[in-house]
Amino acid sequence: MPQAPTPITDPPPAVPQSPDPQRHAVVIAGAGVAGIAAAVRLAQAGVAVTLLETRRKLGGRATSFADARTGLVLDNCQHVVLGCCTNYTDLLRRLGADGRIAWHREQYWVEPGGRTSVVRPSALPAPGHFGPSVLRARFLSLGQKLRLARGMLAVLRADRARWRAGTFAQFLHACGQGPGLIERFWEPVVVSACNLSVGRVSAAGALQVFQEGFLAHRDAAVMGVPTVPLVDLYAAAPGLIERAGGSVRLGVSVVGIDRDSVRIAAADGAQTLHARRVISALPPERLAEVASDRLRAADPRIARLDGVGHSPIVGVHLMYDRPVMGTPHAVLVGSGTQWVFRKDPAGRALHAVISGADEWTPLDEQQITRRVTADIAVYFPRAARATLEWSRPVKERRATFRLEPGVEDARPEVADPLDPRGLLIAGDFARSGWPATMEGATRTGYIAAASALGVPERSLLAPDLAMAPLAGLLGLRTSPAGATA
Ligand SMILES: Cc1cc2nc3c(=O)[nH]c(=O)nc-3n(C[C@H](O)[C@H](O)[C@H](O)COP(=O)(O)OP(=O)(O)OC[C@H]3O[C@@H](n4cnc5c(N)ncnc54)[C@H](O)[C@@H]3O)c2cc1C
Repeated sequence: MPQAPTPITDPPPAVPQSPDPQRHAVVIAGAGVAGIAAAVRLAQAGVAVTLLETRRKLGGRATSFADARTGLVLDNCQHVVLGCCTNYTDLLRRLGADGRIAWHREQYWVEPGGRTSVVRPSALPAPGHFGPSVLRARFLSLGQKLRLARGMLAVLRADRARWRAGTFAQFLHACGQGPGLIERFWEPVVVSACNLSVGRVSAAGALQVFQEGFLAHRDAAVMGVPTVPLVDLYAAAPGLIERAGGSVRLGVSVVGIDRDSVRIAAADGAQTLHARRVISALPPERLAEVASDRLRAADPRIARLDGVGHSPIVGVHLMYDRPVMGTPHAVLVGSGTQWVFRKDPAGRALHAVISGADEWTPLDEQQITRRVTADIAVYFPRAARATLEWSRPVKERRATFRLEPGVEDARPEVADPLDPRGLLIAGDFARSGWPATMEGATRTGYIAAASALGVPERSLLAPDLAMAPLAGLLGLRTSPAGATA
C-alpha cells in the first residue's frame, strides 16, 4: 500500500475563531486517536483547539510506555491497520507518519509443528483475489475450502441491517459452516478484528469486517504494522495544533463536561473552560461519569452509554535467547494465543496477542507467560528448545467496546440529533459503522471536526477503497462512508 508522503492541509477556516478571549473555539477532551483526529482536522482548518489529556502522553489505548523492567519503550499492545482503513492512513499522512507503517500482503497461518500456509491476494479481481492461495492452503481440507467459498458468497450477499440482532455464529450455522472450519478460519479472524468470539459478536459487525476488509477490494486486507512505537506516530500533532493557535494540555483531567463547557482539574487547580463547541473523545464509561446533570437530562445519548460493555485483550512481549520465529507475523491455527508478531529481524523478540481474553484476565503474569510460551512452543519448534529471557504481559481489561448484538442502539451518534450545537461525541464506540478500531476512532474524530466546522458530517471523511465491479455484480453492498452497519 504505498502512499504519497505529502503532508495534507485543508482549505482556510470555515468557522471564525472565538472573538471572546475567555471562550475557547473548540475544546476536545481526550487525546486518543479520536481526539487527535478531530484536533488535527480542526487545526488544519485554522481553528485553535484546546486538547486535554489526563495522561502525560498522546494516543490513549493505542500508545506506548517506558517499561522500567526492561528499559525499553513498548506498545501497550501490537496494533495493526488494514488497507481499508482509509481514514486512519489519511490521519497518519497528515501527521507525516505514513512512512512509519510497513505494509504486508501475506498472512501466515501456522499449524502445530510449524507447517505454514501463506495467504496472499493474487492478480484475480476482488472478491476472488484470495481464492488461489486459499486453495493451496494446507490448514483447511478440500471440503472445508468448498464450504468456505459458499460461506464467503453468503457473507458477500448478506444484508447487514437484517443481522443486527443475531450473532455471527448464527449466521455461520445458517450458511453451513461446520465447527472445524469455524475454529480454524472464522474464529481467529473474527476474534482478532472484533475482539469477541463468533458466538458472542454481532453478525452485522462481523459481516462488516469481511465485506469491507476482505471482499470489496484486493488491497482491503493488506496489513500495516507500525515500525516505530505507537506514541511516535503522533509526534507531529502538538506542533500542528500550536501553529493554528491551539494548545495540547497533558496531565489535565476532565472532571465535568457540558455542551459548551468543560471542567478540569490540573496541578494548578480546578477551572471551567467555556467553548463554542465541545468534543468529548473520552472513553464511554468516563464520559458517562463526567457528564453534567444538565447534559444527562437533555441528551439521551449519555444514558444509553450504560449499554456499552467492554472486552479485554492481553498482549505479551517476549524475548528469547535465540531466534524462534521466521515469518514477520503468524496466525496460530486453533490456539488460545491467536496472533504472534516478530519484533526484531532475528526473530528473538515476539509479541503475542490474545483477543476476547476474558479467560486470561484473572491470570497473573507468570500464568499468562506460561500459557503463551506453551502455545508458541507448539507452533514454533525452535521456541521449545529456546530459553525465555523475559516477558512483559499487558492486560487491557477495557480494550474495546463489546460488539455484541444490539450494541448499535447504545452507540451514540457523533452529533446530537436533537441539538445542533450540542456535545460532539468522538471515540471508537461512537457510531461509525466500524468495530472498535483506530479507523473507527478516526472516522468519528473527522465527523466531529466537520460538525464543529459546520460543514456536512461526512465531508471530511477519506473515500473508501472503490468496490471492485465484480464484487458489486455478485451482490456486495457496502455502507456509504460513515454510515452505521
Ligand atoms: C490491546 C489493544 C489492541 C488493539 N489492537 C488494535 C488493532 O490492532 N487495530 C486497531 O485498529 N485497533 C486496535 N485496538 C483498538 C484501538 O486501540 C482503539 O479503538 C482506539 O485507540 C480508540 O481510540 P479512542 O480515541 O476512541 O479512545 P482512547 O484511546 O480510549 O482515548 C481516550 C483518551 O481519553 C483520555 N482520558 C480518559 N479520561 C480522561 C479525563 N477524565 N480527562 C482527560 N482525558 C481523559 C484517555 O487517557 C485517552 O487518551 C486495540 C486496543 C487495545 C487496547
